[in-house]
Amino acid sequence: MAKDYSNLIDGEMTTNGDWMDVVNPANEEVIGRVPACGKEELDRAVAAARRAFKTWSKTPIEDRREVIQKISAIIKDNADELFRLLTSEQGKPHAQAQGEIIGASMMVGAQSTLSLDDVINEDSETRLSRTRRVPVGVVGGIVPWNFPVMMAMQKIAPAMLSGCTIVLKPSPFTPLATLRIAELIKDVVPAGVVNIITGEDTLGPLITEHPDIDKITFTGSTATGKKIMEGASADLKRITLELGGNDASIVLPDADVEKVAEQLFWSSFSNAGQICVAAKRIYIHEDIYDDLSKAIAEYAKGVVVGDGAQQGTGVGPIQNKKQYERVLELIQDAKDSGYKFLLGGEDDPSGTGYFVPLTILDNPPEDARIVAEEQFGPVMPLMKFSSEEEVIARANNSEYGLAGAVWTKDTDKGVRIAEQLETGTVWINEYLHLSPFAPFGGHKQSGFGAEYGIEGLKEFTYPQVITVKKDAVV
Ligand code: NAD
Repeated sequence: MAKDYSNLIDGEMTTNGDWMDVVNPANEEVIGRVPACGKEELDRAVAAARRAFKTWSKTPIEDRREVIQKISAIIKDNADELFRLLTSEQGKPHAQAQGEIIGASMMVGAQSTLSLDDVINEDSETRLSRTRRVPVGVVGGIVPWNFPVMMAMQKIAPAMLSGCTIVLKPSPFTPLATLRIAELIKDVVPAGVVNIITGEDTLGPLITEHPDIDKITFTGSTATGKKIMEGASADLKRITLELGGNDASIVLPDADVEKVAEQLFWSSFSNAGQICVAAKRIYIHEDIYDDLSKAIAEYAKGVVVGDGAQQGTGVGPIQNKKQYERVLELIQDAKDSGYKFLLGGEDDPSGTGYFVPLTILDNPPEDARIVAEEQFGPVMPLMKFSSEEEVIARANNSEYGLAGAVWTKDTDKGVRIAEQLETGTVWINEYLHLSPFAPFGGHKQSGFGAEYGIEGLKEFTYPQVITVKKDAVV
């Protein structure tokens, strides 16, 4: 039975009588309804956040930390209910949904421990100059559908810690677990500090352009990121943009084929490939290309694609119909272009649910759409390379610059290659590891600014320099 969910505005769970359906991508059934909000609800949420900012920004950081830690604990204590709800709206298998919920709780807890201490710029006989960080004010947070809970919490926690208040908009495709968290935390968060409102994509520009919002923190596609930058320019809002990626993994000839095959598979196919930092292009040295590509395809044959709520499912459906059709279109393009498939590429899947068979392409050219574009689905192109110089140039040949990976026994060499990649993160011999203490952000068109760590926290603040002239005569 579909359930109705409410928004959190000014400390109260509210609805407005207009509803949007939320669909389970595994069976296309409506599993919930959430409020379809517009300007009126947004204005109320922003006004509440503005009122709350007056006291929250003056609340001692230790007290703010305590509230954030309570949120972390509430998410953990309710993980069982939350991960099941997350699977039903997002599609990811239970184990991965559990990973997202527990991971979000841990990230929130870890971020609560950060501090932005004052910095002394000068302490001389004549002058004391100090930089302090002051919260920017009311934040507008906009979140995508691939990791809805993690992305919401990685905006809410640092905003709160810095002394800001926030109005957050989940993706219309995946608002349920976030609204359930809103309900669970509402009694521990002072009214107006966190507001969560749902609406169609059209609510996004209203947030970006709202005159009483001071900063936008956005995770989503590069195309939308550009619109946000444009909308936020009217009153020079501060912006943090976490955008798309087309990450390259580079496998050197000394990598252990059997061991690396499984890891490469999951670096591409976790969450059905719908991860901004998934390996979206895999470059394998020609000496091990045949063996490794065969080993990856063999491993993939043992992975079950299905409903994430079923035990044994390794890869769930694509989250929504539009993205499902885009992934099928990219596969069709590869077929029409005559590229070779190591796995998948059969006729279009039919039936209920947005399931795409695991697809692996054998050495498509560099200008193939599946190589040049972000696929955001369970389709992995494997490409052959022969020299380090060549593969670095190919990896960097992208407007994106989010992350990448190098796989090799020679970690010094791995680091040398990493330093030549034009991305914000590079992993050597692992993938998808994000630390709450390290800045995460994209180079080039993958982003603007960073999340996590001290650098992420600073994005919610302005620097203010206070200078005292010690020997002044007044
Ligand atoms: P999207 O850009 O379509 O939507 C993201 C959010 O923006 C949604 O809440 C949507 O309602 C809202 N929105 C849509 N149009 C808007 C507008 N004009 N103004 C303001 N808001 C608007 O992205 P998506 O399809 O939900 O997510 C997939 C994309 O997100 C991929 O490109 C992926 O790489 C990227 N992503 C990036 C990161 C990262 O950290 N860099 C993380 C996850 C996803």
